Amino acid sequence: MRPITVIINTNALKNNLKIIKNITLNSKIWSVLKSDAYGHGIKNIYPFINDNSDGFAVLTLDEAIYLRTKGCNKPILLLEGFFSEKELFLIYKYYLTITIHSKWQINALIKYRSYCPINIYIKINSGMNRLGFDTKKILKIINFIKNNINVSKISLMTHFSEATINSYMIKKQITKIKKSIKNYNTFSCSFANSAALLWHKYSHYNWIRTGIILYGASPTGKWKDIKDKKIQPVMTLKSKIISIQKIYPGDIVGYNCGYYSNQKRRIGIIACGYADGYPRNINDKTFVFIKGIKTKILGTVSMDMIAIDLLNIPKAKIGSSVELWGNNIKIDDVAKSANTIGYELMCSVSKRVPRILK
Ligand SMILES: *Cc1c(COP(=O)(O)O)cnc(C)c1O
Repeated sequence: MRPITVIINTNALKNNLKIIKNITLNSKIWSVLKSDAYGHGIKNIYPFINDNSDGFAVLTLDEAIYLRTKGCNKPILLLEGFFSEKELFLIYKYYLTITIHSKWQINALIKYRSYCPINIYIKINSGMNRLGFDTKKILKIINFIKNNINVSKISLMTHFSEATINSYMIKKQITKIKKSIKNYNTFSCSFANSAALLWHKYSHYNWIRTGIILYGASPTGKWKDIKDKKIQPVMTLKSKIISIQKIYPGDIVGYNCGYYSNQKRRIGIIACGYADGYPRNINDKTFVFIKGIKTKILGTVSMDMIAIDLLNIPKAKIGSSVELWGNNIKIDDVAKSANTIGYELMCSVSKRVPRILK
């Protein structure tokens, strides 16, 4: 069997959720399980966070139905509601809470005429200009919904456009809501994502929605920003050395002379490539962890292999275990070197990498 695996640290996961709970004591928690639990596998994550979550937020009907069939009886929120009115049958069947962000969704609900009451999250566009209704139209829309659809509860939701410690936009977006929706706090409100819940207490309200810090990476893309919160990485991507080469001055490594060695050195070939989800466009200061030492990746990442420097690691041999990211090499750091964020790397780990629970 190819030695690459994702190890899922379920204790870290449970611990991260406890930390989140302590920070947001007065709010309920939507644990976000979209994109197959940020690449970890919804089936590997859900059982360990069920107790301390108040509900689960997902993107697709498949994810929601999976949770219901596993016996989940907590609220399940579809973060973008439905994409076609054909989905309404299953939404009612499985008692899902839906986000409504566009007029066509309201019309579809009216046309569907269900006798069952439904929970609705109204998405407010408070400044991100991605999804949602204009703040000035919200009260009208709520009245229209109340008069035309059998609703059990209407909640307000918005999403922040900035995931930083000193965000100017978060305050600005909340102020916009406060100004245009006078009685906004008579509704249940869900505004905060991971960044907002960590650094902007005034944004917590009734329900927070947490994704990235549950999985142990930073919403800002910088590990140092969450270091003091005791959040731990849940995902470790590891593999093994499958070959060792000795190279001499003037030798190159990998495709297109990606690395040129000016001295004699030992290099290790790891079973991990971009087809596993490891980013190909990393810079030349990207590290892996082997035998307690951080060492550099040499040359270009191939589809199925990566070369690493073993110059100062004589103990490394074929079969030695290598961490690509995890506790020692933070996913945020690999992401930074590839010009992206931990979110993208987690979601990109491909299907061919088995996920193993620890
Ligand atoms: C993905 C998502 C979240 C979670 O964001 P994190 O930064 O991972 O905490 C929250 N709300 C909405 C609407 C989302 O789509």
